[in-house]
Amino acid sequence: MDTHGFRDSAEGSPRSLLAELAQLTPGMQQRAPQLDRTADFPTEDIDLLRSLGALAAPLPPELGGMGWGTRPEGAAGLMQALRLLGQGNLSVGRLYEAHVNALRLVVRFGTPDQVGASARDAMDGHLFGLWVTDAPQAPLRLQDNGILCGSKAPCSGAGYATQALVTARLPSGGSHMLIIRTPGRECADRTGWGTQGMRSACNGLVELDGVRPTAIIGAAGDYLCQPDFSAGAWRTSAVTLGGMEALVTEMRRQLVKRERHGDPHQRERVGKALIAQETARFWVARAAIFGEAHDGDAKDIASTVNLARIAVETACLDVLRIAQRALGLAAFRQGELAELLLRDLATYLRQPAPDETLAEAAAHFMQRAVPETP
Ligand SMILES: Cc1cc2nc3c(=O)[nH]c(=O)nc-3n(C[C@H](O)[C@H](O)[C@H](O)COP(=O)(O)OP(=O)(O)OC[C@H]3O[C@@H](n4cnc5c(N)ncnc54)[C@H](O)[C@@H]3O)c2cc1C
Repeated sequence: MDTHGFRDSAEGSPRSLLAELAQLTPGMQQRAPQLDRTADFPTEDIDLLRSLGALAAPLPPELGGMGWGTRPEGAAGLMQALRLLGQGNLSVGRLYEAHVNALRLVVRFGTPDQVGASARDAMDGHLFGLWVTDAPQAPLRLQDNGILCGSKAPCSGAGYATQALVTARLPSGGSHMLIIRTPGRECADRTGWGTQGMRSACNGLVELDGVRPTAIIGAAGDYLCQPDFSAGAWRTSAVTLGGMEALVTEMRRQLVKRERHGDPHQRERVGKALIAQETARFWVARAAIFGEAHDGDAKDIASTVNLARIAVETACLDVLRIAQRALGLAAFRQGELAELLLRDLATYLRQPAPDETLAEAAAHFMQRAVPETP
């Protein structure tokens, strides 16, 4: 441990880190409603992740991590971690998932020096954001003088993530990945986010005028490189799965508490919700293996994860509908855990281009068998 209480690496085994994360889940769930009310950043939860070494866990083992998101053998551990965080607080899961993605991209495309620098930052406890969506009125570009001009929005962890991987156009043309030390909280404007859920992910617009990137990662277009670009969606699905599991658990708990669990209609709903949840779990486990594989046919990998993404979305939408019917107005009462989970899940499910995702996967597998899980 250093003087801030940070561990200098993801110590211990993935199994023990997962056990420690599982112990955090109830506390995260307890803190989530208050954080949602005030739309505050989950500082305590991220501090706890940091103190456990979870922010360093995405690094490859030789750099002090557990390969979560950077090694095929880290897939199972990362899936459990994302699921646990989703169970605790979907906003925390979203922040961690972006952190993993940013480090993964640096490890995948960065030079050894760049990887070493980001690894040290992760071990020092920095939380990375992944800000790739341009604010429509001010797309981000790197000027000839090496300084950025423009904004990103929406950015999870706006004003709180201390480093970020962003995409920007370079003077030479093409979109590149850059690492930045994020500007102060005064450059984050959260007034425009205003969505009904995921409020403590602290999404907002971040103005990056005048920021000098610390690194340019990879070549133009690497961010969109397949299958990584599509396959990364499995991590969002894993967090979603955790939230879905928390909602099904809460639904069962409330039915028992209100002595409505013996009713045959409610039992049918619980059965259908459990089937949807387990369907999602099978798909996420399969997508994790494909998404983290370092070999295999790129289109098979991307299309398999695309199918998983839509399968999980569909299962989750089913669970939202079932939970509303099962709990009635209680599912809409502010301050209730179910109400928060319904809002957060409905918001988090809105990921880019779902029609295209399904259509592309269907086109790929139209005349080709869907691969079996290795
Ligand atoms: C909680 C949360 C946190 C986020 N954090 C970040 C972040 O930190 N950094 C970041 O960069 N981004 C972030 N995002 C934004 C994210 O990357 C996407 O921009 C966003 O999720 C897109 O959702 P959408 O429903 O608007 O997608 P859309 O792609 O607009 O889809 C909406 C609907 O339109 C359809 N559609 C899409 N394109 C077309 C078209 N051309 N013609 C006709 N129909 C079309 C889709 O199939 C779908 O039915 C976040 C999103 C969420 C929900």
